[in-house]
Amino acid sequence: MYPPKIGYVIPDNVKEAVEFLESHDDAKPLAGGHSLIPMLKLRIIRPSYLVEIRRLPELHYIRVEGNVVKIGSMSTHYDIVKANIPLLSETASKIGDPQVRNMGTIGGSISHLDPAADYPAALIALDAKVKIRSSRGERVENFSSFAKDMFTPDLNQGEIVTEIEIPLLKDYKYSYQKLERRAGDFAIVGVAVALKVNGDVIEDARIGLTAVNKTAVRATEAEKILMSGKISEKLIEDAATKAMDYANPTSDIRGSAEYKKKMVKVMTKRAILAALSR
Ligand SMILES: Cc1cc2nc3c(=O)[nH]c(=O)nc-3n(C[C@H](O)[C@H](O)[C@H](O)COP(=O)(O)OP(=O)(O)OC[C@H]3O[C@@H](n4cnc5c(N)ncnc54)[C@H](O)[C@@H]3O)c2cc1C
Repeated sequence: MYPPKIGYVIPDNVKEAVEFLESHDDAKPLAGGHSLIPMLKLRIIRPSYLVEIRRLPELHYIRVEGNVVKIGSMSTHYDIVKANIPLLSETASKIGDPQVRNMGTIGGSISHLDPAADYPAALIALDAKVKIRSSRGERVENFSSFAKDMFTPDLNQGEIVTEIEIPLLKDYKYSYQKLERRAGDFAIVGVAVALKVNGDVIEDARIGLTAVNKTAVRATEAEKILMSGKISEKLIEDAATKAMDYANPTSDIRGSAEYKKKMVKVMTKRAILAALSR
């Protein structure tokens, strides 16, 4: 309940923030605080300083530029819900509870990388890109390589995530299906689906799974099945069955590995049907 003693830094801009973080090995950026503060209260981490980046105006924006959506890393889950971005807004709407969505940010979520977090299912399906800033400049990385392992983003001390970029799926049908024990909980299984439908065929299929691996994965063979012929019950059944091959879940308080694997099929099917019915 009681965090350890800690210094607090309020930088004026991103430049100041990254310079302070670079010169202090164990200083940590503070975004929405809804993963960091719980960890401090349990004393799982003991940084010397928190560097508050949450209120920096440079990191607060959501804009559409041509066919891409650029999202400042300190956009809250609620900001993203309100922005009506295909697939991502629906995914954000299912994170935690209203209080969490008011404070938590997309940049904080992907820098924390809980294996059961919601965004990664959508971000992997969308081939999202992550912009990272340090005192040496900027680099851009694919989300798939940024998410190295559970709780292990590709970030060095002194680097912060400034932006997430995704394609604007204007003509797509999509759905995020989250299986949870009760409203507000993390996912037992989460499946994000985006489909470009042309008549009775699917021209592009994207399926992202969360909570069933160390990091989110794309069920690429299941996507190929969906694109292989006319839309039918069998095609959807076969794709959903194939998605199970991409799940390597662990047994925990949310369910056994066997149950979760089966639920990947169920939730994939639901996501495809919900998307198609849009
Ligand atoms: C009750 C509760 C329920 C929740 N339920 C869900 C859920 O259902 N689904 C879900 O996905 N999440 C859930 N969460 C987690 C929530 O979404 C957090 O807000 C999120 O994981 C972290 O974002 P944050 O902005 O709060 O980051 P913080 O907690 O401030 O930071 C998290 C970590 O990332 C680092 N960091 C933050 N921002 C940056 C940056 N821009 N660059 C580099 N490093 C950075 C911090 O130093 C810290 O290590 C829940 C949290 C709570 C408390």
